[in-house]
Amino acid sequence: ALLFQKSQIKQKIPKSELNLLNNQNSYFFCIFEKYINNLIMIFNEVKNFINGDFKSGSSNKIHSVISPLDGSELTTFKESTMEDLNEIVDFAKKAQKAWQKVTLKERVQVLYKYKQLLENNSPELTEIIYQENGKIHSEAKAEIDKAIELTEFACAIPQFVNGENMEVSKGVYCSSTRNPLGVVASIVPFNFPSMVPHWTVVNAIALGNAMILKPSEAVPISSQYIAKLLKEAGLPDGLFNIINGTQSTVENLCDHPEIKAITFVGSTKVAKIVYQRASNNLKQVLALGGAKNHILLLPDAHPDMASSNIVASMSGCAGQRCMAAATLIVVGDCDAILDKLIGDANKIKCGTTLGAVISKAAKDRIEVYITEAEQQGAKIILDGRNTVVPGKENGFYVGPTIIDYATADMKIAREEVFGPVLAIVRVKTVDEALAIENANPYGNACSVFTQSGGMANYVTENASAGMCGVNIGVPVPREPFGFGGWNESRFGSGDITGKSSIGFFTKEKKTTTKWNPEAGTNWMS
Ligand code: NAD
Repeated sequence: ALLFQKSQIKQKIPKSELNLLNNQNSYFFCIFEKYINNLIMIFNEVKNFINGDFKSGSSNKIHSVISPLDGSELTTFKESTMEDLNEIVDFAKKAQKAWQKVTLKERVQVLYKYKQLLENNSPELTEIIYQENGKIHSEAKAEIDKAIELTEFACAIPQFVNGENMEVSKGVYCSSTRNPLGVVASIVPFNFPSMVPHWTVVNAIALGNAMILKPSEAVPISSQYIAKLLKEAGLPDGLFNIINGTQSTVENLCDHPEIKAITFVGSTKVAKIVYQRASNNLKQVLALGGAKNHILLLPDAHPDMASSNIVASMSGCAGQRCMAAATLIVVGDCDAILDKLIGDANKIKCGTTLGAVISKAAKDRIEVYITEAEQQGAKIILDGRNTVVPGKENGFYVGPTIIDYATADMKIAREEVFGPVLAIVRVKTVDEALAIENANPYGNACSVFTQSGGMANYVTENASAGMCGVNIGVPVPREPFGFGGWNESRFGSGDITGKSSIGFFTKEKKTTTKWNPEAGTNWMS
């Protein structure tokens, strides 16, 4: 697919039809093979979504959205102000008051329709992720599939939220119900422009809240479609809103007195800032941070399974996954498996089976990590630096990189690189491997590759990570299980998805009743 700027497309389309297109409410226009032999996508200015309408931010500060595929400007947006947020919150509060009176079973009917729209629009949504994030089409499509699965969970929430009722004392009944919080906000990162917003948006709305989404400034286009499709599905205006911006917009969200809860997903540095600032303003907060995931490779691992899973984990989404394999701790002699793994990684083709990283700054940062490891004595087995993809010379590509003989104290083995880079640390025992894993400040994921059930149990029981895997490269727990790490990968309690999110987006009310005077009164009633 090719991306064309609006000025280019104007030359190709007759004026009458261009007017027709310009008058459409839809945010973008796809014209398949009508005027040229490729998909044309025009991304208009990215706007806030307020009470069911798209509206530009009020600040004069304009941000460019750059395509990682070729460095071109896809679109722009204006930073939002506190006045913009006030306007959103005022509408959201009114809409939420009415929404909480709609029963849960009725509320999710909108989400059934929305799920269908996600399915119908999957090719366009996939293309948008590809253009703005730079991941390959199959990964972008998988993200939409996951958004659909998350919406299915939200549709199923009535099966999980049934409250409790018990006779707690003679003739006295206590029941519990789950009530929405009010207006809530979700701040999201660049690496999953559609999936991560779906971690929170659909559950929060199903549970009776009004949601304000703050997309990543690097990939704000996908969220425009969440707004468009939710509206098309029949969601009342004001329940889903978007505020675009950067640091100042996040600070406004943390400070706004009418926002009751905030979820954040992004780097640990910012997760700490958001957690502290929003908690200080007495909000309920769950902030997921960065990661440095360890994989323990044991000599009895199944060679093909280990090799293919580890390579897919370190290189998928160009290594820009908070669940990506980052440090491979090889226990004992695994050379035959490592040879296979290097062979598999060598087959990856940048621009075809490996996408771009998000920005020039990200590419530079990743390459500096590789160079530093080399200077410190690690061996670069596969070098992804200075990768250029023919036809996409201005794209931000880093090839798959494998670095052997790293030591646990090197930055490459300790810090989040967030690129398609695997550092190999060699140890003699499983306990040595676990000590390295345990010492790392993060705690998102840890996997072990072995054929021994006993060893697998030992590793998963002793790893200091919230999401563990056995012979799985990316151990993401799927719904109804919740997604959430430990240590510096998460601040706040509970998980962001699955059953745990029901607790986050609601407050419990306990009601105690007695209708029968003959029950009398005793010390406990
Ligand atoms: P980021 O922390 O730079 O940005 C995340 C959000 O915070 C964005 O919306 C951004 O606008 C905002 N932000 C950035 N700087 C800010 C500041 N100083 N003050 C207030 N807000 C600020 O993260 P990113 O680069 O977009 O995403 C990559 C990171 O996200 C990685 O560290 C990755 O591990 C992490 N991540 C974690 C999970 C998880 O579940 N734990 C999932 C996805 C991504």
